[in-house]
Amino acid sequence: MVLLGEKETVTASCGHEHEVDLSELAVDRRAGRKRFFEEKGLCGECFAESSSAEREKQRDAWVKARRAEVDQAVEAWSTAAGMPSLDGSPKQASYAAAIRMAMVVAAHKELVFEGAHDEDWFTGNVEGPARRVGQARWWLDNKDMAPSDLPVLLDAAVNDPRNRAECENDA
Ligand SMILES: [Zn+2]
Repeated sequence: MVLLGEKETVTASCGHEHEVDLSELAVDRRAGRKRFFEEKGLCGECFAESSSAEREKQRDAWVKARRAEVDQAVEAWSTAAGMPSLDGSPKQASYAAAIRMAMVVAAHKELVFEGAHDEDWFTGNVEGPARRVGQARWWLDNKDMAPSDLPVLLDAAVNDPRNRAECENDA
């Protein structure tokens, strides 16, 4: 398949052609959005004529698809970064994994890219300890903390046996 442009004409699920604006999406996200429109989307006219219940259904489907996309990205990052899956309900675990990714990435930006620390320091003080905090709850409780405080927060967490992941690859 050729790379998708900013505007693509697709046949929506109602059978009508519809121009989809993909300009806000990175090129590797556009195919997913296009497929979504083909399977679940309505053209502008059908959308305008649809009942509010149908519209709500469409919006729900879109939210679900977005969420699946985010879950996939978080999972790929967690695997690449060697982060264990988190203990908690499935909903908690997936939300907490997204928070963990956002905080670790933000901490890396602030402390390494824009800060005075190097990669080894980051591995020892953020990435390594983050791998050892396996409770979804911990990440949810700390989601509003400044990412640059992760070294201090994680240091407290790894010294608390309640927060440790069962598999301690980096111990
Ligand atoms: Zn239509």
